[in-house]
Amino acid sequence: MKNIAILGATGSIGISTLDVISRHPEKYSVFALSANSNWKKMEKLCIKYMPKIVVMDDEEAAENLRKVAPDGVMVLQGKSALNDVASHQNTDFVMAAIVGSAGLSSTFAAATSGKRVMLANKESLVLGGNLLINAAKESGAELIPVDSEHSAIFQCLQGGKEGLKKIQLTASGGPFLKTPVEDLINVTPKQACNHPKWKMGQKISVDSATMMNKGLEVIEAHFLFQLSHSKIEVVIHPQSIIHSFVYFNDGSVLSQLGLPDMRSAISFALSYPGRQNSGVESLDLTKQESLEFLSPDMDKFKCLGLAYGALEQGESAPGTLNAANEVAVEAFLNKKIGFLDISKTIEKTLAINPISRLDTLASVVENDHLSRQIARSIIEPRLS
Ligand code: NAD
Ligand code: MG
Repeated sequence: MKNIAILGATGSIGISTLDVISRHPEKYSVFALSANSNWKKMEKLCIKYMPKIVVMDDEEAAENLRKVAPDGVMVLQGKSALNDVASHQNTDFVMAAIVGSAGLSSTFAAATSGKRVMLANKESLVLGGNLLINAAKESGAELIPVDSEHSAIFQCLQGGKEGLKKIQLTASGGPFLKTPVEDLINVTPKQACNHPKWKMGQKISVDSATMMNKGLEVIEAHFLFQLSHSKIEVVIHPQSIIHSFVYFNDGSVLSQLGLPDMRSAISFALSYPGRQNSGVESLDLTKQESLEFLSPDMDKFKCLGLAYGALEQGESAPGTLNAANEVAVEAFLNKKIGFLDISKTIEKTLAINPISRLDTLASVVENDHLSRQIARSIIEPRLS
């Protein structure tokens, strides 16, 4: 029996993880759940899954949950409680599914304490890079990708990396794949969050619309598979049936296919190296529309080029890119800036914040804070 801690349990990945786990009560037990502030949703999860520990980031939410949580559920609050749960001696597997850099320190806590880290929170790898990879290596933690493309590549590389030429991450192209660039000025948060294939949280939905999601994934792939940027390509595949390609020097190309449902990747991270029922239906290719593949329009999706540039620069640049993106996406969702201002904010932040060497978690966090300040001052110059 494996004890699972799901960090970001109320979100899209968190709920899908609970769905997979509940199909295998003989294998997995829900040990801990965490969320930001939605205590009403968490109350329902407590009643259904009876975790031993719940951590809410928000103080008032924790207070409210304490009053209604079923007996036997301990409600804790705050960031250090979250790290404690991630590294708890009774935790076997950690689902890192908090959105954004808020997930960094708990992902690190799990990685330094030898857990199986099921990594959905790509931002922590973009920020922490080799620090996170090395922490996992030292402690013996397993870093298993949950991002569908990276899970696909991980699955294709089970035979080893010998003869690996390059990888190609597939991208749906998001809701604006066919929208002319001049029409992007006026798109609303609602339009940007209306993803044609995947149902996801708001932040990653906007990232998919700008294609920053794929940019972050290029950086994520660089660290996970230790490949140079020149060996990581992006191909648009609007049907989201093929989840990436791995090219070998004997002319073979391996890929993993499946319906666009995150439960497949989540299930594999849980059952690795084995497989199990995830609840996802089988693919019937005779019933599928034809599969298309296109090159990304780098002039239209500027964020993708910015991410490649940051990866090439290395050091603190990916962290700066990520921080500026988080600030810009939030401002876009709050209707403070337009859709096209997202890439402009990131570009300016990268130009202002000098590159620095990040050798410790503290320096990563410091660069994150500084980059956020710069991005905010670009968005609201009068307030800074
Ligand atoms: P979501 O917005 O649906 O859920 C986010 C979760 O994080 C919620 O439980 C929320 O309470 C928690 N959270 C937010 N801010 C927090 C804070 N400050 N402190 C503590 N907890 C906080 O997001 P999601 O779509 O489930 O995505 C989660 C992560 O998984 C992201 O990093 C995303 O890039 C990645 N991911 C998601 C998908 C997907 O299909 N949704 C696919 C691949 C990767
Ligand atoms: Mg993905």
